[in-house]
Amino acid sequence: MRIAIIGFGAAAIGFIEKIKDSSNEIHIFEKSKDIYSSSISGIRADGKLFVSKEMGGDIKVEIALQEKLVEYYISKTNDRKFEKGSSFTNREFYKQFYAKGFQPIISEFSHLGTDQLKQVLYTIYEDFKTYKNIHFHFNENITDLEVIPGKVKLNNDDTFDKVVVAVGRSGHKLVKTIIKKFPNVVTDNTMVDMGVRFELPNHIVDELNKEMYEFKVKYKSKTGYMVRTFCNNPSGYVVTENYGDFATVNGHSKLKEKSENTNFAILTSVKLTHPFDDPIGYGSHIAKLFKLLAGDKKVILQTYQNFKSSKRTKHLYRVNPTLDRDSYILGDINLAFPRRIAESIIDFIENLATVVPGIANGDNLLYAPEIKFYSNKLSNNTFDDLKFIGDCSGGTRSIIYATAHGWLMAERLLS
Ligand SMILES: Cc1cc2nc3c(=O)[nH]c(=O)nc-3n(C[C@H](O)[C@H](O)[C@H](O)COP(=O)(O)OP(=O)(O)OC[C@H]3O[C@@H](n4cnc5c(N)ncnc54)[C@H](O)[C@@H]3O)c2cc1C
Repeated sequence: MRIAIIGFGAAAIGFIEKIKDSSNEIHIFEKSKDIYSSSISGIRADGKLFVSKEMGGDIKVEIALQEKLVEYYISKTNDRKFEKGSSFTNREFYKQFYAKGFQPIISEFSHLGTDQLKQVLYTIYEDFKTYKNIHFHFNENITDLEVIPGKVKLNNDDTFDKVVVAVGRSGHKLVKTIIKKFPNVVTDNTMVDMGVRFELPNHIVDELNKEMYEFKVKYKSKTGYMVRTFCNNPSGYVVTENYGDFATVNGHSKLKEKSENTNFAILTSVKLTHPFDDPIGYGSHIAKLFKLLAGDKKVILQTYQNFKSSKRTKHLYRVNPTLDRDSYILGDINLAFPRRIAESIIDFIENLATVVPGIANGDNLLYAPEIKFYSNKLSNNTFDDLKFIGDCSGGTRSIIYATAHGWLMAERLLS
C-alpha cells in the first residue's frame, strides 16, 4: 500500500514506529521547512510524558502501551537524564485536596525538558530516514484532499491508498477545509477551555512541587463551571504563543536553566449547547479582544489582588514575571473575559488557598488569555481510506495519547 501521512508530530511518530517494518510505502508531508525548523511538531516544548487513564485524551489507551511509548521517547535521549513525578499517588495529599472539594487527578510522568526534546525529535527522524520505504517531503503544506473510490488524492496531485491526517492543532486550516467538504465527519464540537497562567514564587508550592512536580486537580466552582490546573512548571518560564490573529499564554520549564517561579494554567471548561457550534470561533473572539487591549503579540498581566477587584494593574510588588517584558502589558483581564469565567477562577484560587497557604497572595501574577482549543471530534469510521490521528482528531491532547493514537491506527490498518 502507498500511505501518506500529513504532518510529522507525535501522532505521526507513533504511526510510523508501528508500521515502519511492514512492506508499505510511507510518504510523510510536513509543512515545516525541515526537521530543524522551529515550527515543526508539537513535541518541542516542555516534554512531560504522562501515563494516566484520566487525562491526555478521550480515546482508550492501555497503561502498558502508554508506558511503552514513554520508554520509547526516553530511549531517544542521549543519556537517559530526565525528571520523574507523580500526581496524587500519595494518599495523604489526595485526601487533603479531596476534603476541600477538589477532584485530584492521578497520573505519573517523566519530564524531558524543552532543551532535550529537540534532540529526541532529531534522533527519531534520523532513525526513520534509514528505512528505504519511508520518504520525507518537507515544505509541503497540504491544503486540500479529494476522496475518490479506493484512493485519496492530495492537492499536490499525488494519489494514495490511504491518507492519515496528523496535523495537530496547528493544522486547523486543513481540518476546516475537510470538514466543510464532509460535515458528517464531525461528531462533537462544543468545548473550549479558557483561563489564565498563574505565576508565583517557588517557595509557596515547594512541597507540592517536590512531592508531585505536577499537581493536577479539577474543581466544580460556584458558577457551575469545572475549573482545572494544567501544565505545572516548577522553576519554569511563561511564554506567549502567537496564532497570527492573536496571542495566548503558555508555560514550560527546562531541564538545566531554572527560574525562581512556578507557573501553571487555571482553566475553565466552557461547554455550550445547541445552537452553538463554534467553540474555536468563540475562543478566538475573546482572544482577539485581549489583542485589542494589549496590542499585537502581547498578553495582559495582572496581580491577583487587582484581578479580584477589577482594577488595572499599574505596579507589581514581590513577584518578578518570567515572561519577557516586551510580551505583556499591565492591565485588567476583566475587560476581556466574561464575568462567569473570572468568577470561576477567583473561586478556584480562594478554595486552593485553603489547602496551599500563599496561593491567594495579592501580588501573585495572572497572565491571560490562556486558551486550550479542543479540535472538533472527527469520526474514523466515515471513510476507509482517510483517517485522522492525534490532536487534530479531537481525541487526544498529549504527546503520549497522540503517539498512541498513531500506533493504534497503524495496528488497525496492518490488520
Ligand atoms: C507549548 C506546548 C507545550 C506542550 N507541552 C506538552 C507536554 O509537556 N506534555 C504533553 O503530553 N503534551 C504537551 N503539549 C501538547 C502536545 O504537544 C500535543 O498534544 C501533541 O504534540 C499532539 O501531537 P500531534 O501529532 O497530533 O500534533 P503535532 O505534534 O502538533 O504535529 C503536527 C505536525 O503537522 C504539521 N502540519 C500542520 N498542518 C499541516 C499541513 N497542512 N500540511 C503538512 N503539515 C502540517 C505541523 O507542522 C506539525 O509538525 C504541549 C503543547 C504546546 C503547544
